[in-house]
Amino acid sequence: MPSASSSPDLTETLQTHFGFDSLRPGQDAVVTTVMEGRDALVIMPTGGGKSLCYQLPALCKPGVTLVVSPLIALMKDQVDALVRRNIPATMINSSLTAEEYRERMGAFRRGEYKLVYVAPERFGSESFMAILETSGVSLLAVDEAHCLSQWGHDFRPDYLKLGRVLERLNHPQTIALTATATPRVREDILTTLGLRDPAVVVHGFARENLSFRISHCDTQADKLMRLRHLIDEEKTGIIYCSTRKKVMTVFNDLKAAGANAVAYHAGLTDAEREFAQNRFLSGEADVAVATNAFGMGIDRPDVRFVAHFEIPGSVEAYYQEAGRAGRDGQPSVCELLFNHADLKTQEFFFEGANPPVSLILQLYALLRRHCSPDSNELELTVDEMATMLNLKNAMCVGSALAVLARAGAIERYDVPGHHVRTTRVCDPAARQGDLAIDREALRDKAERDHAKIEAITQYAYSRGCRQQWILRYFGENASAPCGCCDACSEDEPAAAGDLAPEEVLLIQKALSGVARASRRLPGGTWQSIFGRVKIIQMLRGSKACPPSLQRLTTFGLLAHISEDRLKGLFRALLRAGLLETSGGDRPLITLTPLGAQVMAGKETPRLSGEGWRQAPPTRRSVRRTVDGIALGAPDETLYRAMVELRKSLAAEKGIPAYRIIGNDALRGLSARKPLSKAAAGAVKGIGPFIAQHYLPAFLELIAEYELGDDEKD
Ligand code: ADP
Ligand code: ZN
Repeated sequence: MPSASSSPDLTETLQTHFGFDSLRPGQDAVVTTVMEGRDALVIMPTGGGKSLCYQLPALCKPGVTLVVSPLIALMKDQVDALVRRNIPATMINSSLTAEEYRERMGAFRRGEYKLVYVAPERFGSESFMAILETSGVSLLAVDEAHCLSQWGHDFRPDYLKLGRVLERLNHPQTIALTATATPRVREDILTTLGLRDPAVVVHGFARENLSFRISHCDTQADKLMRLRHLIDEEKTGIIYCSTRKKVMTVFNDLKAAGANAVAYHAGLTDAEREFAQNRFLSGEADVAVATNAFGMGIDRPDVRFVAHFEIPGSVEAYYQEAGRAGRDGQPSVCELLFNHADLKTQEFFFEGANPPVSLILQLYALLRRHCSPDSNELELTVDEMATMLNLKNAMCVGSALAVLARAGAIERYDVPGHHVRTTRVCDPAARQGDLAIDREALRDKAERDHAKIEAITQYAYSRGCRQQWILRYFGENASAPCGCCDACSEDEPAAAGDLAPEEVLLIQKALSGVARASRRLPGGTWQSIFGRVKIIQMLRGSKACPPSLQRLTTFGLLAHISEDRLKGLFRALLRAGLLETSGGDRPLITLTPLGAQVMAGKETPRLSGEGWRQAPPTRRSVRRTVDGIALGAPDETLYRAMVELRKSLAAEKGIPAYRIIGNDALRGLSARKPLSKAAAGAVKGIGPFIAQHYLPAFLELIAEYELGDDEKD
């Protein structure tokens, strides 16, 4: 299948009208599909670039593209941006005067627009529909398509009418777009819009700076130990617990261990919660121990870890909570502390949220019996009702009351001055059999909730890349292993003690070589003077290094270690934060404070073993197809090194990593290992801008990796 980026027309339109060099990989897939005339459902996170997925085809196709968008403000921004780019676009909504409306509809009929934005309410207008029917629409784009699902978070009843509208317009080609990817919402969109053989493209949900881990813990003490470790290593973080009681247990333990923590759960007073939240957000507290009530508005960017003390109820919840780590793009850790017994808590929640119909009917009978004959009201607490029904899980009663209220059988309200909520039976004459309980809906919900627990349990027991597992769950199938989760780096020692003494010694010697090759500053820190290549030459006793390095006591200290092994070691030291690079085109290597501690034997090093330990692990590789051509497997080590390089370039430029270069392009580069710009041209996803600005750095890395870099630097 030819990709969109290989079409000269599309590329030219992209560059001249939008000023972009190339499509992002996800956009490429969508645009290709849309240009082929197929319906599509696009799920990309906010900022992923959904608009271009229909705007570019709109310009390249004959006729007009109608865009359905829920908010006038959103529409206005988009239309203004298009008009600034000299693209004939407009919007038709309730903010127009009658005059403006007539004018724009006239221009619409005359085919003067390529893109017309409308609010869904517009389809209620018969005259508007009539014009649509006669003028025709070549593409219909439904933005924020989750609005048509009751399972989404912004249900808009007007969106439901779109199904009928599409029928009336004789099913023009349709593309639906949203950032919400739950399977249920997806299904609703597909069925409501009646999409025909749609391409479903899910893309961009990976969080590359997050490293996911699952620790199987036998005891609570194990978990608490893991937490203390995490706090030592990462300092700032959120610890999610499934119950209020557990929040306090964990909080007290960490407090006693000297952690600067706050506790947060819905059982605290408003003032207490606000105080805790503010302390955490302002940075006065390092750690928040919380239930899932903690979340809304938590936008502290430098959260370095999110730990789950128990397994949460769904993958959706897990990814959302874990995703609060690393908003600033810096490497962060998401760790699930798993013990199978914790699933009991989730089962308890499940039962509480899904009372059987028999129980709902029993509760109804109880309410009928106990309500006052004149007002039909009664004042019993949920706990009292639970006791009367002999139930251990009072949550069931709360859920059953909600079902009865939805069925119109009861009402619940607060009466001023009363402590207990009042329950009123609407019609005590109505018997159990008369109640309009939607049994099927209850069964569906129970099934869904159950499937969610199943899924997160599977995650806890999964092997293989964590990030990839999660992305697949959300329907993003084309992702490669992340390279930084615990499964991807399973050769990483689980604990510091796993490094052999001679390996620790090797690390210390390498670090001391770096220290000697640096200048010591008054504050006790080091200033780097040399790059990695020269320091390795020095350690190996090579006469190729400058005379000043040959005079050092560390000259030839590691002459018996192969150059490749040392290169691998330096990569691992950089990754583990014992060394860092500074400087522009020629990165110089310096010791970090942590590196200094390790060198002095005051800290035990923890680093991944790939490429430098005696028995190197076999490289796992993935076969991927790009443009239908089977490539050599991407080289994982090179790929990871390139991801690191991208991270540092992104940090340097202050832009998100994906804007430097896409994952697919990196994978292509790591598979083909081109050494020149021309050779890199065969790799997908490298437009002229990337080629000019960022590619050289990656080519250099490939050359260094492939050829060794003795003659360079
Ligand atoms: P979404 O609707 O998915 O939230 P947008 O369509 O608003 O995302 O795009 C997000 C940003 O990314 C915008 O600033 C847009 O200009 C930019 N963008 C989109 N596609 C590309 C591309 N191919 N190359 C460069 N920038 C792009
Ligand atoms: Zn991984």
